Amino acid sequence: MLFSFHRREAATSPEADREAELARARELGDFFRLAARAALEYLRGFVLDLREIGSERFQARLLELGETLGAEDRVGRLRSAWESAGEAIGSFAERQKAYLRDREAELKQIIDILTRAMAAVDLENRDYNRSLLEHGKRLEDLTLLDDIKKLKAATLQEAAQLREAVREKEARDQRRIESLSRQVQALERELEVVRREAECDALTGVLNRRTFDRALADWVSRSTARPQEFCLVLVDIDDFKIVNDTYGHLAGDRILCTVARKCGQVLGAGDLLARYGGEEFAILLDGTSLRGGMKKAARLCGAVAAARYVLEEAPVEPGLRLTVSAGVAAWRPGDTAAAIIERADRALYRAKKTGKNRAVSERDAA
Ligand code: GH3
Ligand code: MG
Ligand code: MG
Repeated sequence: MLFSFHRREAATSPEADREAELARARELGDFFRLAARAALEYLRGFVLDLREIGSERFQARLLELGETLGAEDRVGRLRSAWESAGEAIGSFAERQKAYLRDREAELKQIIDILTRAMAAVDLENRDYNRSLLEHGKRLEDLTLLDDIKKLKAATLQEAAQLREAVREKEARDQRRIESLSRQVQALERELEVVRREAECDALTGVLNRRTFDRALADWVSRSTARPQEFCLVLVDIDDFKIVNDTYGHLAGDRILCTVARKCGQVLGAGDLLARYGGEEFAILLDGTSLRGGMKKAARLCGAVAAARYVLEEAPVEPGLRLTVSAGVAAWRPGDTAAAIIERADRALYRAKKTGKNRAVSERDAA
């Protein structure tokens, strides 16, 4: 107990009565002084320790008032101290209430945002979801905490753990993305290899017949839509059967590769070379007239004939002689792929018939 008072024996004379009255009044005064100080102590217990609302200053004010109540005997001073403290107590209580209301509203908002965020999280991330849900539950529990200090500490801890959970998830996602992008790159490389294999001839590495057929069809429709000249040159190795028969199939294969390389040397940007059949090649020359096509075909025949081919199987110096024949046709308006091939083929046949090792234009084969 902070205070106590006793009943006095009843007085017998008027003087004694006054004195008894005075003593009672003093006792009552002491009681109220003690009661007021005790009430201030209780009040101090309700003050939350928050710098934001000036708790420290307010606590000091209460202490000061308690001391004044204990030491001051002048009623006027006591009254004015009490009145000004009363205002301060009222306004502090308002501040504290407003602060708590704001914090509660903020907390509700945070929980709301988190709840919505958690609802939106991809269902695949089950572990992550579970951890977020746990955090959400704990955040909800925070609202049950009365002590704002504990609430702050617990909220900070939750926030740190949430950040950690998000960081871990990001790291996990990053590792997953890296591994997936490695897989994608490997698959792209494989796809590129497969695509090249599908488009090219396995022996010579130039485009295969299927790719050539598609390309020719494209070139024909492109030139039909928007006239643009191009040439088809069909190249056939002369007497290749003899090479095979004399030096063997493997030697023949190597010769095929060499001739493919020689054909490639007459190509410009945008031109195209394919293996058309066994020992036949097809060349598409972009933006080239029949004249231009004939020039290139003749140059190719000359280059193949001028070279000497050294084979392991034929170590005869200065090497093997080899020739090719070529048939040249140029695109004309209204042309089809079959028609242009037919004309080039006829020109090639004519080249063979007229002595081989030459280029013949479709004009001389009609
Ligand atoms: P021509 O001058 O009339 O063209 O005579 P040729 O001997 O070149 O023509 P022919 O059509 O009689 O023979 C073509 C030869 O090409 C027959 C075939 O064995 C050979 N050949 C086709 N494809 C390949 C291949 O991939 N490798 C090898 N080594 N030879 C092939
Ligand atoms: Mg041949
Ligand atoms: Mg042939």
